[in-house]
Amino acid sequence: MSMFEDIPVDVGVIYEGERIRRNQMHVELGGPKVESKFEVVKNRSMDEIEDEKITVIGPDLKDLEPGGRYPYGVWIDVAGKGVEEELEGVIERRVHEFCNYIEGFMHLNQRYDIWLRLSKKSFEKGLNSFKLIGKVLHKLFKSDLPFIEKIQTTFVTDPEKVKEMRKEAMEIYDARDAKARGLKDEDVEEFYGCTLCQSFAPTHCCVITPQRYANCGAISWFDGRAAARVDPKGPIFKVERGECLDARTGEWSGANKTIKENTMGEITRVQLYTAFGFPHTSCGCFEAIAFYIPEVDGMGIVHRGFGERTVNGLPFSTMADSTAGGRQVDGFHGLSIEYMRSPKFLQVDGGWNRIVWMPATVKERVKGFIPKDVVDKIATENEVKTIDELKALLEEMEHPVVERWKAIPVEVAPEVEEAEVAAPPLEVPISGVPIVAGGFKVILKDAKIYAKKVIIRRVEK
Ligand code: SF4
Repeated sequence: MSMFEDIPVDVGVIYEGERIRRNQMHVELGGPKVESKFEVVKNRSMDEIEDEKITVIGPDLKDLEPGGRYPYGVWIDVAGKGVEEELEGVIERRVHEFCNYIEGFMHLNQRYDIWLRLSKKSFEKGLNSFKLIGKVLHKLFKSDLPFIEKIQTTFVTDPEKVKEMRKEAMEIYDARDAKARGLKDEDVEEFYGCTLCQSFAPTHCCVITPQRYANCGAISWFDGRAAARVDPKGPIFKVERGECLDARTGEWSGANKTIKENTMGEITRVQLYTAFGFPHTSCGCFEAIAFYIPEVDGMGIVHRGFGERTVNGLPFSTMADSTAGGRQVDGFHGLSIEYMRSPKFLQVDGGWNRIVWMPATVKERVKGFIPKDVVDKIATENEVKTIDELKALLEEMEHPVVERWKAIPVEVAPEVEEAEVAAPPLEVPISGVPIVAGGFKVILKDAKIYAKKVIIRRVEK
């Protein structure tokens, strides 16, 4: 007898990676257009919770207007002898995987960024209550993580309640993240690997170190250690750090070996502290993207929740297409918010001295970790909207990136209208940048422009 006899749709690993397009969806929960959403797991004592209890606060699936988008939260309490606070983040990350086992139920991202869709087909088959989803989650959690002895779940769609509980969830995430700060990559003998996102990006494997938090922002080095301890053969596993090949770029022999083994040989080297060369791959659920802005030779940052166009004219979604997929893409780098708080943050590329633009909300969140002499020189959407405006502001503020512009001295005499300048070999990464023309979008994969000569033409103001 199937474990899911009483569930009206199929449940299994084959549904992982299933996409539900807008015209196929019955309803959407969370997502980029909905402000309040969260997913959290909390460790409790055995007598604090009632096993397999499912509560729904607000309208249930069958009461939600078809085609709509709704605030949504899920709060899961777990208890058991082997359950400890360190495991909360790891258990929470499995919600993504287990929801995706349900036919016609798509789950993307994590924590406060979750985005779910229920398909019309599955709704018509009878998947019309959160209680059914809860039952599946309870069964999968207990069979896959047997140290969970009791589990209870609360689904929330009441907008006010989602907002209120999200606040509490944010405090839990912050406390978890703060724990790993202070520990250095050099201080530990092992890192952790995670392949949970391979159903979406088969050549992606996260290398989680104390100073490079996982891309999704949901798994710290401590979380990795706890997960590997309770389930050593699971998707999160120990990586022997091995020999340090380059401390500046963050390259270790053990990380390279693990990456190679876990990406079918596709990725053979990883340098943890850079967005160029051999950068860490990006799956699809990164919290933010660091993107190269060739016009100012600086980097911008955009997070998933930013709904406007960034300073280069592209929105998060377009750049996410160029970043995702488990590839090493020069200049498009998926990362977590917590990694921005790391002293190793893009250290090869110049760290914060190279960051020229970011949304005001992210800047506010990581402000305390940006060096004081550069924090006010990093522009946001409130100061500049275009590259020209950005360039002018960087010059005015004497942002450290301006120094880089002097690397190629170019002089054009006032009477000269055009000059050809032999430059040092210039390599501009344009890999993955979409070119939109004539109703088509052309994406150049793994492409770079090499220029031996730069032509400078005087333009009338
Ligand atoms: S982003 Fe990385 S750490 Fe997070 S779930 Fe995916 S593979 Fe695991």
